[in-house]
Amino acid sequence: MAYEKVTGIVIRYVNYRDNDRILTIFTEEKGRVDAKARGCRRPKSPLLPCAQPFVFGEFQLYAGKERYTIDQCDVRESFYPLREDVERLAAGYAMLALTQTVIQQNQSNPGMFSALYHALSFLCYGDTHAVDMVICFIVRFLETNGVCPALTTCACCGESLLGARESRFSVIAGGAVCLACAAEGNALFVELLSLEAMRRMRRLADADMGRVKLPPAVRRELLRLLTAYMEYTLDKPLPALRTLENAGDI
Ligand SMILES: [Zn+2]
Repeated sequence: MAYEKVTGIVIRYVNYRDNDRILTIFTEEKGRVDAKARGCRRPKSPLLPCAQPFVFGEFQLYAGKERYTIDQCDVRESFYPLREDVERLAAGYAMLALTQTVIQQNQSNPGMFSALYHALSFLCYGDTHAVDMVICFIVRFLETNGVCPALTTCACCGESLLGARESRFSVIAGGAVCLACAAEGNALFVELLSLEAMRRMRRLADADMGRVKLPPAVRRELLRLLTAYMEYTLDKPLPALRTLENAGDI
């Protein structure tokens, strides 16, 4: 039987039959892989530790008629401390939910993989605010998937926004817009500081994501704005992000 080894992060699972789960794994090599973890819900199953969201590990798979089955898994990191902090756990689930919207079978996405791995690491072991980490992850997500909003020039007319005293943001136009263009359509107020924060996060190396520290007003504004932008761009509701917006401590 031909085995394949992949390295990946478990994004979600669905229970299957009495003791099995089907895992969705975001792998470095092949993008999305759906694989059966047979017997993993039995207490002594060797697959029990790997059949959980967030687990990062090396999976040995074999291809069946319909889908892969996991033969062995070597867990390298379970990000276990996330489970002990409700806010960080919700932030982590939001990252997994966003990842799930873009990963494709047989299509690796190294930028996305690196952003997710680093964001989960900082969320779990760093002291960055959980919502700041999600915001930074969203900006990296948009950048690496080629759908980053306009941030330095008006999304409508192309005029530079760098010297502007005020700015607006239009989800439909695709980012920041100048005041003249904002007058013509549905644009939201955006603080200049929020635009500058997004510009910086866009250029950040993934290994520096843990340095992000947003003022509370910017954090609230960007979460609201980016949630609206993501829902429009991906054309689907994102309840995992809405949950963060409604949480108390942001
Ligand atoms: Zn304009």
